[in-house]
Amino acid sequence: KPVVAVVGRPNVGKSSLVNRILGRREAVVEDVPGVTRDRVAYDASWQERQFTLVDTGGWETGASGLAKVVAQQAEYAAQTADAIVFVVDATVGITDADAAVVRVLRRTSKPVVVAANKVDGERQEADALELWNLGVGEPFPVSALHGRGTGDMLDAVIAALPQAPSEGEEEPESAPRRIALVGRPNVGKSSLLNRLAGEDRVVVDAVAGTTRDAVDEVIELGGRPWTFVDTAGIRRRFRALQGADYYATVRTSTALERAEVAVVLMDVSDPLAEQDIRVVEQVVEAGRALVLAFNKWDTLDEERRYYLEKEIDRQLSRVSWAPRVNVSAKTGRHMERLVPALETSLAGWDTRIPTGRLNSWLKELVAATPPPVRGGKQPKILFATQADARPPQFVLFTTGFLEDNYRRFIERRLREEFGFEGSPIKLTMRIRE
Ligand code: GDP
Repeated sequence: KPVVAVVGRPNVGKSSLVNRILGRREAVVEDVPGVTRDRVAYDASWQERQFTLVDTGGWETGASGLAKVVAQQAEYAAQTADAIVFVVDATVGITDADAAVVRVLRRTSKPVVVAANKVDGERQEADALELWNLGVGEPFPVSALHGRGTGDMLDAVIAALPQAPSEGEEEPESAPRRIALVGRPNVGKSSLLNRLAGEDRVVVDAVAGTTRDAVDEVIELGGRPWTFVDTAGIRRRFRALQGADYYATVRTSTALERAEVAVVLMDVSDPLAEQDIRVVEQVVEAGRALVLAFNKWDTLDEERRYYLEKEIDRQLSRVSWAPRVNVSAKTGRHMERLVPALETSLAGWDTRIPTGRLNSWLKELVAATPPPVRGGKQPKILFATQADARPPQFVLFTTGFLEDNYRRFIERRLREEFGFEGSPIKLTMRIRE
């Protein structure tokens, strides 16, 4: 669902407008600095279009300068919303605080709709026209109090939202998803690729000095095509032209850039090496979905297997969320488990949590386990939003710094609640002092 954020300095009538859009007459919250409400995101709709309405007015907790606070609201809106409603009091005209908002809004590429509020009758229409001077587009004269003009304004908001996928229409045949098969030299990447492709074929002419060095291969697995990126870096005949080390380092990062999911292949006939861990970390840093694959399983005996699992748990505890498959490129063991693991990780990577759902979950979590007090102050979490997917990225708006421990706690709980198996997730804070 798209997000529409309402910004503007206090007393322009943001809350009344929000209530008007939600179709509520009651509960107009006073626009007094210091008033904090516990909810700022609402489910709303107009002309059959659903969206999340965010009232940034709920954060006016005082302390810092007015212009700064509203600029922060606008900053927040510019970063997270799909469209912004900028509310101005037409009867007052443009103030410094309004100008501060405009400076922020000018920098964003997000659509802005100016609501010229308190135009309760024809007498104030001229006031609204003056707001063209803000330089952020057509002012829509509205009266949040009486409802006048809000329909036209909402039409403009809906028109500015990104196109919704129309119902009943077939999803276009999606492109094959892109896999990077990575791992240190000799773990069996080339053998695994051959096993998956089903033949020992040469796909590139190993001509020294060729410039076409990023060659992708499409391989059908589990009934659908997958693109393995930069297989020239894996194929032995081609690789022989360059040092193995070259591929192990440079190649991995360029392959990751173009991939959506990485299979990190490791060799269980050797102890896990620092280089293996490094490749895993590269994947996490690149923000790609991850599958851990342990190759040469055929070389293990029962006892070694037991200790190996423990060793892996310990060494790869940072990515305990990643699915694992134990395979043998030599015997073909468990090759069929690769596709479900890839699908799991990609599903986690693609996940988007609706803002409303995220916040109602977070509110409960924070009520049960508040952030630790820091410097005598209790940081508050005002609002959270998933700013992006692939990988999932969350922004927490807080009134103070959250300790690493607490952020890890939130990440752990996010995973418990919403999944994200196989995907790194990013959690950032925006602090308003
Ligand atoms: P790459 O450098 O990661 O591409 O590794 P290769 O595919 O070239 O394999 C390195 C060595 O490991 C070769 O001698 C392979 O025959 C061997 N190898 C690969 N996979 C397996 C496996 O599943 N079991 C065993 N026993 N050996 C394997």
